[in-house]
Amino acid sequence: MTDPLVRGWCPGAHRPMRSGDGLVVRVRPRLGRLSGAQLAGLADAAARFGSGRIDLTGRANLQIRGVADDDHPALLAALSAHGLLDADEAAERRRNVVVTPFPDMAGETAALAAALDARLGDLPPLPAKFGFAVDTGPVRRLADVPADIRIERAADGGLLVRADGLDRGVAVGPDAAIAFVFGLARWFSVAGGMVAGRGRMADLVGRGVRPPAALAGDALPAAAAPPPVPSPADGGRLVGFAFGAASAADLAVLAALGDVRVTPWRMLLVETAAAPPDRPDLLLADDPLLAVAACSGAPDCQQAKGTTRDLARRLAGLVPPRTRLHVSGCTKGCALAGPADVVLVATAAGWDVVRDGRPGDPPVARGLPAARLADPTFFRELVS
Ligand code: SF4
Repeated sequence: MTDPLVRGWCPGAHRPMRSGDGLVVRVRPRLGRLSGAQLAGLADAAARFGSGRIDLTGRANLQIRGVADDDHPALLAALSAHGLLDADEAAERRRNVVVTPFPDMAGETAALAAALDARLGDLPPLPAKFGFAVDTGPVRRLADVPADIRIERAADGGLLVRADGLDRGVAVGPDAAIAFVFGLARWFSVAGGMVAGRGRMADLVGRGVRPPAALAGDALPAAAAPPPVPSPADGGRLVGFAFGAASAADLAVLAALGDVRVTPWRMLLVETAAAPPDRPDLLLADDPLLAVAACSGAPDCQQAKGTTRDLARRLAGLVPPRTRLHVSGCTKGCALAGPADVVLVATAAGWDVVRDGRPGDPPVARGLPAARLADPTFFRELVS
């Protein structure tokens, strides 16, 4: 099997990624929030200069798809007009910050996220994928979201700063948190965490390299809560999208309801008490599609070995309760960062099947045709 291309960098707006359906232009909402006007502007720009499809990512960003090279400058101008464009590529590359969408009692989350955002330019050089999580809502929600340095809710209700990969962190007050974040970032840099522009905190500590005691700490984080589902939620209404892919028309409808917070679960938290209208691709409650992750696949992704979402839709209703299915166009596994109970991986020879793992793990079956997988009796036996 040919290994998928690993680029080692993330696309942005200034530096888009080329895909099978055109340029992919990633917008990183500042502090994870968009006003209704900004969301409407983004939806309009995606419809005018792209295909009208917007993917929500696992790092709480939005990707405008299907942009022609010639339309890229006009799209950047439209994003800039709505305050959605960084000054340059370096500035946007540093804004790898995921913020919990849920408000906390003490009102600390927004202030911490803003303080970190304001100082990102002072960080030492870090790998392109190096990121931060501000997980300081009433409970910890971002434990499964990729991040290298975490500001978290502690078990005693206070705050801590934790290097990803370590079980414990340093208990901090709200005024000191950012200084400890910078301390860990500098330590990562001088401890050899970055090699040839790449590296992750968990890999560094996984090699037995430890921060000094003053940065490691012994405070326990609060228990992690499972990812939420579309529902009324603290702060508004969580709205999902089939496979995390929204249409410009759907976003325009939501924009009229209120401001939004972008989540890493490929949902938007719309700041409204009103129920959004029933539209085909909006997931407003428990839906079989929530059990299935599927990347864009062919033909949109040049690396895909097969189409993914048609098969995922056919299988969604067959997935047993509490089972996660991942349908991936190749072994890269863009749709889901963690493992799934059942993983179907497209190959040139058909579909490989992985149990309890990721798309790159050794398969238990190889080269199955899609029609065989879609047979209800066969699929139920496969996942049982
Ligand atoms: S996992 Fe899917 S989207 Fe990611 S590179 Fe492979 S085919 Fe493309």
